[in-house]
Amino acid sequence: MSLSLPGSPGSPTRGLMRPPCVAWRDRLETELLPKDSNVPEHRRLIPTYILDSLFNSETIQEILDCWCSQCEACRDLSGTSESSIDPKIITGHSESDKGTHGRAVVLFAVLVYLEFPLLVNCFLTHGIDDQRLILSTASFDGVGIRNIIGNEIHKRFPRFAERFHWSKHQFLVPRAQDLVRAGDYAYFPRETILPFANEVAVGRTLENGEIISEGSFGRVYRFDLLDSYGEFPEFPGVHQFARKELLSNTPEWRFNAERRNLLSVKKIGDDHLVKIVTAYRHGNLFNLIFPLAQTNLHRYLREAEYQPFRGSTCVVKHPIWLQLLGIARALYKVQNFHENSSSNEASRYGYHLDLKPANILVEDSGRLIITDFGQAVFKRATDSTDSRVRGVGGTETYAPPEFDDDANGVNRRYDIWSLGCIFLECLVFVIKGREGLLELDHSRVTVDPLNGNIDDRFCSYDGSTGSYALKRRLLDQIERLPKHVQGAADLGFYQKFLDLVLHMLDVNPKTRLTSAHTCAYLSKIINEPAGKHSIDVTRDSRDASQGDRDSEEIESIPRTLSLRVNGNLQSGSAQLLSDGTQLQVKVSRGTDASEVPIGQLTALRMIPEYALHNPGSYYFLDYSLSITPDDPTSANAKEYTFECRQDLDATCRLQKQLLGQEVVRSWKLSSAELLMRPRKFRRKSSASSTASGVSGLGNPSAIQLWEEGAHIDTTPHSPKRYFRPTPSHRRVVLYFSECILLLRIAKNFRLNKASQQVENHSSTLEFVPTSESTDRSFSATLLRKRPDMPAPSFALDRGAFEAEEANGRVECSSLALIFHTPRDATLFYESYRELKRQWREDVKHFDTLLGRVGSKMWDIRSK
Ligand SMILES: [Zn+2]
Repeated sequence: MSLSLPGSPGSPTRGLMRPPCVAWRDRLETELLPKDSNVPEHRRLIPTYILDSLFNSETIQEILDCWCSQCEACRDLSGTSESSIDPKIITGHSESDKGTHGRAVVLFAVLVYLEFPLLVNCFLTHGIDDQRLILSTASFDGVGIRNIIGNEIHKRFPRFAERFHWSKHQFLVPRAQDLVRAGDYAYFPRETILPFANEVAVGRTLENGEIISEGSFGRVYRFDLLDSYGEFPEFPGVHQFARKELLSNTPEWRFNAERRNLLSVKKIGDDHLVKIVTAYRHGNLFNLIFPLAQTNLHRYLREAEYQPFRGSTCVVKHPIWLQLLGIARALYKVQNFHENSSSNEASRYGYHLDLKPANILVEDSGRLIITDFGQAVFKRATDSTDSRVRGVGGTETYAPPEFDDDANGVNRRYDIWSLGCIFLECLVFVIKGREGLLELDHSRVTVDPLNGNIDDRFCSYDGSTGSYALKRRLLDQIERLPKHVQGAADLGFYQKFLDLVLHMLDVNPKTRLTSAHTCAYLSKIINEPAGKHSIDVTRDSRDASQGDRDSEEIESIPRTLSLRVNGNLQSGSAQLLSDGTQLQVKVSRGTDASEVPIGQLTALRMIPEYALHNPGSYYFLDYSLSITPDDPTSANAKEYTFECRQDLDATCRLQKQLLGQEVVRSWKLSSAELLMRPRKFRRKSSASSTASGVSGLGNPSAIQLWEEGAHIDTTPHSPKRYFRPTPSHRRVVLYFSECILLLRIAKNFRLNKASQQVENHSSTLEFVPTSESTDRSFSATLLRKRPDMPAPSFALDRGAFEAEEANGRVECSSLALIFHTPRDATLFYESYRELKRQWREDVKHFDTLLGRVGSKMWDIRSK
């Protein structure tokens, strides 16, 4: 036989066969994931369950018996030739033991993959099993491996140690749940391979094929979670996600700020806010993982590959409005963020500061979601009395005029401007489609004549007037829109929506709408039947311009209010002080405080503007209360108006301080009808008249339930009046534009659900006599507007109040209430029933008390 090369024809049989170590190495390679050849081999991985299926006692024995020259050398050098290895040391002694302790399957697989299976003995004699390999991965670096295999082997196979160091990561891949750390972020060394496949950069594709990523301070990728590596705990069954990789020079504090913002946003739990999956650091790169969305609103409305809202042609019923309402409400929640009550965290104000269509995600369902809180700021409400933030760095295009003003910082209406821009784009899209939107994009591009810079903001600065305005060509575009709207209903909606948008795009942040108003108006015009009058946002803005609304945004500090005297704002916060006869107000600004005497309680009246304004509205849109002198013609008569920063609770607390009446709850009323019986003619034949017509009550606006604090009346009104404890009065209070109706809860009337309507769908309730046979009517009080006052009012003095209540008595045969929603009616019904139950218990308690001690006990005449 002539000499021949190994494996060539005529060589010994073994020469024809591939050595087992090589065959098994090839076998492992076929199992690498993902099976996508674009991923380099050293970034591919093998799940543990595949290793378990490949390596058992027989296959391990086969490999350990390898006869190739390299394995022979390893066998000699590692001392395996003297004492053979039992494969059970590698597979673990018990078949059921699938843990990592006392097994070395992963370790063995790494060695097979490197074609050095016989070196396993070096590791085993050092007591290294899979558990140690996984838990102290970092110690198995080049130096660590050299110590394990010894100098002799290292000299013979000098590259082995380095290769082991790098290849082990393909076998030690964390599972999805390992990426989630409660209260912190996970860290993985740069070499760690994560169980992700099919990563694709997400962003706008330029003509040259380059992808421009749209996230701030980072790049966004979509990826699939590899099947065999578990799931993210809060997202079972989901395998596609988005990963935002922050730029490599991002400091840790910025990553942590964004991560904490996202966790705060997640706590809000709104369907229109992005929900972070997890955050981790991989080498030097910070990463955030999110559920995958279809695209963002910028691309959705502009790029031809998407077909947004197919089949929606009607403007008024277009599905996008509800989505915009959803994101407006989500923004409101971000801006008025409250941690859950069990924690000690104070409420906070959130600012997104980079709202733009590219930061609004579109889910497959069409739901819009606010994302990218990299710029956002969450500020504790108690941090300072100034609700402004500084250091804004959002995208310029959708930034409001105050973006340019470094000195002043911004308040929460910054985001409203940006949202207004988004609303405007959606309106144009709904009416004129993609082409219209692209025209709009084009119309706002201007070139700065001074420096030649291109400017695509919605507003521009006019040096001649020294003020900002929406760009002229943009307004021209908007003015031409109605030509493309068909039908009165669509046109009506268009006008109302545009009205809303223009008030969001108010260049003056002080008069710009708040998020609460935006939600209220948008909800109103979406739900309002077609053809009704358009909303009057102008009046509201004019109101706001009189006061410093910025300071009002520091809200929900009880008893701290802003005060206006005769229309002039006393800046700072205000607090009421009263000694029972005199009323004072303390105005504080910073550390300065001054006390302003208002006057004698007996000479003052209160106008509850907040409850009287905006009849027909579902929301309380006004949060002011005024104190006016009983005699408006007196020489130094002043009107004091308190504004409670859009906080109904604070307004009601102030009212309680002034009147001694706890407002249990307030609702807006849609309409009310009062049937009266003239007091002196209580006969069946007497004509009833309706409230709105004959008695001139005006439009109803709100209804409240009041509970009076239990008290001993110290005001002597007549010598017949005795001091005695009385059960506190509970009242139903209805606000009409021309009068206030008081109904003291009593035995002789009750509240009915309207019988003719289907239960649970009725918004109507009715007060009727408890028993027609004993009482055909019940008493109420009408406090009519005084001719010298702009609106109905209450006397501040308790005695005067009760005297007016007694003088204004009327007899009613029924009082029907129509609420805006069936839910409101149900809530009122339940609250009223509870209040009446408490009242009955009180009455019973005092009856028992009087019965036991004898009424004489209380008959102490006043002196
Ligand atoms: Zn071999």
